[in-house]
Amino acid sequence: MQLSPETRLKAILDGTGAGTWEWNLDTNEVIFNERWAGMLGYTLEELVPVTFGTWERLCHPTDLAQAWRTLQKYLDGKGPHFECVIRMRHKDGHWRYIHSRGMLLRGTHSEQPRWLMGTHLDVTEEKVTEHRLLQLAESLPGIIYTFVMEPDGRYYFTYISRKVEDFFGLTPEEAYADAELLFQHIHHDDLQTVHNSIADSFSSLEQWECDYRVINSGMTGWLRGVAKPEREPDGMVVWQGIVIDIDDEKRLELELERLSVTDELTGLFNRRYFIRKLEETAAQQYRYGGEFSLVAVDLDHFKAINDAYGHPVGDAVLKRFGELIQHRVRKSDVVARTGGEEFLILMPQTSLENAAQVAEDLRQAIEKETFVSGESQDLRVTLSAGVVSCREEVATVRELLSICDRSLYRAKRQGRNRVMVNKQGVRDG
Ligand code: GH3
Ligand code: MG
Ligand code: MG
Repeated sequence: MQLSPETRLKAILDGTGAGTWEWNLDTNEVIFNERWAGMLGYTLEELVPVTFGTWERLCHPTDLAQAWRTLQKYLDGKGPHFECVIRMRHKDGHWRYIHSRGMLLRGTHSEQPRWLMGTHLDVTEEKVTEHRLLQLAESLPGIIYTFVMEPDGRYYFTYISRKVEDFFGLTPEEAYADAELLFQHIHHDDLQTVHNSIADSFSSLEQWECDYRVINSGMTGWLRGVAKPEREPDGMVVWQGIVIDIDDEKRLELELERLSVTDELTGLFNRRYFIRKLEETAAQQYRYGGEFSLVAVDLDHFKAINDAYGHPVGDAVLKRFGELIQHRVRKSDVVARTGGEEFLILMPQTSLENAAQVAEDLRQAIEKETFVSGESQDLRVTLSAGVVSCREEVATVRELLSICDRSLYRAKRQGRNRVMVNKQGVRDG
């Protein structure tokens, strides 16, 4: 069957559901097809007389101004075609989103009329869906985003919701232009973790999950990122993800963690944490060598103090003693209250002599300290201490503690208020 070009063109256009328009720029004559009118609920006949004003009248005023600007740009030679989405009023009163696209048909002679010809497509459904998604993205309590990493390691965002302004103090446009700006807001101590976890997810294609701190307007807050990666055929990985604010949750978690390792009365570490640190230090010494020391302290005749002044006064003494220790140790030392009036100090990278000196300073400090008893007389307290250091001979943590304890009990036996050092090495204290 031989079809005329007109018939074929009409069949194609009918198939796409597109309305067509033609506009003579010199005479303002316009031609619309039936579908053009049907898209807005009219028949062509109902729109007669069809003029250029017909289109203008049906356009949303705001979008019309935009359409004129776009058209002017095209006529000025910017862009291969004219294209815009405008709202047009349907016969029953509501607005439809119409995607309009056209091209100038120029004759070979300058005196030939200039026709702008194009199509109309109804994109209302797409626009409504897009709007709904946008609204959803804006109303979420977190950021949603699409992040891309090329095989050569370059990375960028192809989508990021406006919530990025609240979390990072950046607009989506700034994040698109330079993803690095966003990374610059990540807390220095967490940045490497974030980069490493992204690199892991890139190669393993496992879900990316990371908790990290951001600094925004001088405030630090915890965020959690979760994203699902997918590798494209060309090797790049695309993550669809979400970032949520976990500041309250994280602070609570950190506080619980702190409480679980802290002695409530003195604020020093507790026994459990101390043993963990001691085991870590011993393992490190076993591997890399070096030396560390341990001091065990027990307050003398503490039961008598409690009996004479009452438990609350005893508590106050323990608290104050905790402060006295902390003023005399280094930041890297670990101080714990491991029992009622018993304390342990772990001193990494410290010789026996230096540890003994710290213990002796502490003994003198508490001896001189006047504790408040709540009564007229001064309350004096003394301590006994045992010191041990662990150098070449690697003892188990349990051995080490018991050697230290033995030195402490020697101090007790020899009359209290003294520091005893285990000089024989860890094997034969
Ligand atoms: P020693 O010189 O031999 O160490 O004598 P001590 O009385 O200190 O030793 P003992 O182990 O017999 O008694 C320890 C006392 O410490 C028992 C208890 O009254 C007191 N104590 C333990 N824990 C606490 C506490 O949390 N608060 C107070 N106020 N006292 C405590
Ligand atoms: Mg005791
Ligand atoms: Mg005691």
